[in-house]
Amino acid sequence: MITDPIAINEHFVKLDGVVVLGIDDPEGGPFRAHVETMERPHGCPSCGVVAHVKDRDRVELVDLPVYGHPSRLVWHKRRFRCPEESCPMGTWTEEDARIAAPRMAMTDRAGRESTRQVGKWGRSVNEVARDLDCDWHTVNDAVVAYGAGLVDDDPHRFGDVVALGLDEVLFVRRGDMHRKEFTTSIVDVEAGQLLDIVPGRTGTEPKAWLEAQGAEWRSKVTYATLDLSGPYRSVFNAMLPDATQIADPFHVVGVATRKLDECRRRVQNELLGHRGRKSDPLYRARRLLTRAEERLSEGGREKLLGLLRAGDPKGDVTASWHAKEAVRELYAHADEQLATEWIDRLIEDMSDKTWPTEVRSLGRTLLHWKHEIIAWHRAHFTNGPTEAMNNLIKRVKRAAFGFTSFRNYRIRSLLYAGKPNWSLLATVRPR
Ligand SMILES: [Zn+2]
Repeated sequence: MITDPIAINEHFVKLDGVVVLGIDDPEGGPFRAHVETMERPHGCPSCGVVAHVKDRDRVELVDLPVYGHPSRLVWHKRRFRCPEESCPMGTWTEEDARIAAPRMAMTDRAGRESTRQVGKWGRSVNEVARDLDCDWHTVNDAVVAYGAGLVDDDPHRFGDVVALGLDEVLFVRRGDMHRKEFTTSIVDVEAGQLLDIVPGRTGTEPKAWLEAQGAEWRSKVTYATLDLSGPYRSVFNAMLPDATQIADPFHVVGVATRKLDECRRRVQNELLGHRGRKSDPLYRARRLLTRAEERLSEGGREKLLGLLRAGDPKGDVTASWHAKEAVRELYAHADEQLATEWIDRLIEDMSDKTWPTEVRSLGRTLLHWKHEIIAWHRAHFTNGPTEAMNNLIKRVKRAAFGFTSFRNYRIRSLLYAGKPNWSLLATVRPR
């Protein structure tokens, strides 16, 4: 049996330069180890004279569980006083980053482990707080502090990027009006790595971010993928003028599907004078309409055609459905030349005044984005990875029951999807 306090520290508490004063294991509460740092002379930070110990200050820090029980490290901190009468230093409390970073309510090792649990394994802050028997803020503060060191102090977290994507994500709804606030994800769409998140979905912040990366870095970006959004196009025009812009197929098909949906609801309303109800043919057709045609079963196809005959006498919805399928077919053409001929034909066809307004609007979108849409056939980069990334970010948001602080959200998302170098976790400095 070990009874020597220094040996107990070596075997059990395991903190350099620390002496165990005693152990306290109350019924029902966390296990407590009382410690102090080893006695050594402290110089006054201001004048260098050997300081006097004035008194002690007990600080209770959340520590890693011991044998499955929550634990606390009670640090009996020395408070010092400068004996030099003319010195302005007065009194101060000792700090030791090996035990805990300044102002942190958690030991250093518990802070690093919490960051790994939440950032790397995607556990919720609540779960980790429950394991440690502490509150949400204690864990979250630690994760954000150590996490910031990991994602922002590592100049090698990402290198050159060949294909860069911009994508908007709904960040939070604020206030009584539930005003939506957006963020922009900046992604290496080739590597599937979240490079950063900036506030807003106008071009200003992504522009500043690209500016900060330097001209050399920007010159390596060969492809730039985007949803069909004007602000992101102008970011690329200004900051990556030589990169080929690619419209993300997912968003292009998404526009066609949205137009089809608009058309279905308009016809429904014109015909029946109310919004879709369970028994209405067009309402019953809504899922069959948006499904890819080749994924419809024989029976499903028959059913859809029957519902359209019943609910779409003028054929507007049917036309929008064909238009959506024709847009999807764009991506079946492997060859850029064929795809160009196909999109030219679509744009021409859809401009015909006999088509429903939704189809003509879709045709105008295709015309507006023709070069970016066709560019996909040169290099098959899509925001697909970005979508996956956004799903990860949504998971992070759910795990935290919705962030409102942008800094928290950015660090947490980057820990999860930004591929930080986890081998640096042991040495990063919390911020
Ligand atoms: Zn002094």
